[in-house]
Amino acid sequence: MLEVIYRIYEVADEETAAKNRENDCGFGLFSSTSKAENIELLMDCLICDSREHFKEIIKAEYGDNIAFRYSKKLKPGDLYCIIIGEHCYNAERYFNKVTFTCDLCGATVETYYGRGIYFSDYEVRNSFYNIQEYAERRFCSNKCKAVFEDRERHKLKPDDEQEFYIQRDMFTENVAGYIYKITKKSSGEFYVGQTKYAPVFRWGQHLKTKRFPIGGILDYEFETLEIVPKTGNILERGKYWIQTLYKENPEKSLNIACIKGAE
Ligand SMILES: [Zn+2]
Repeated sequence: MLEVIYRIYEVADEETAAKNRENDCGFGLFSSTSKAENIELLMDCLICDSREHFKEIIKAEYGDNIAFRYSKKLKPGDLYCIIIGEHCYNAERYFNKVTFTCDLCGATVETYYGRGIYFSDYEVRNSFYNIQEYAERRFCSNKCKAVFEDRERHKLKPDDEQEFYIQRDMFTENVAGYIYKITKKSSGEFYVGQTKYAPVFRWGQHLKTKRFPIGGILDYEFETLEIVPKTGNILERGKYWIQTLYKENPEKSLNIACIKGAE
């Protein structure tokens, strides 16, 4: 009989990997073999007959494609398993056993070390508007986690009074982008721009420029002219709006370079 301590990792996408590297402040006890930048799903102990038996059990649970070491060939979302130790006769000495209930299916889960499968800080910020309650959720599997996330994201509508961080990639689903207009009310001058993110981010950037300094914000009117769907051509739509509004009011357009370029 063999007692194996192991961890299951999911290969992180580039963005998550960068975040994880940043957060790995010296806890990389096993990082030379397990790559701290990837997502640790689970650390556990398993009693089996042999290493081969161990691999069979893991494959039965996570699928035949699970790898037993990290390699650069693995793609984001792929799983791999790292054996940390064998002949671990006293697991309780090293790990605290944690029992919890899956927040989706209600299954009882026993695990050593860590908190089971849960949303990372990054996910809580990006998927759940940084509402900390979601950081407490626990799941028996990545499948339950994914189903839960999908369900919550659809019904989650933070009320207007609640302040939370918004990030650029929150409103990019199914859109190629947005065409917007900023008008100086006092002079009637206007600028037409395009952005693949919600215009509010672009407006914030304009307020850092000489053309629309924040000091003049009482004079500015911000409008969205068009939501360009995924199937649309944002460059063409941008050009269309710039030229149309220029023709109506040539002396007020602040898009000089763009119009000259189009001629
Ligand atoms: Zn579950």
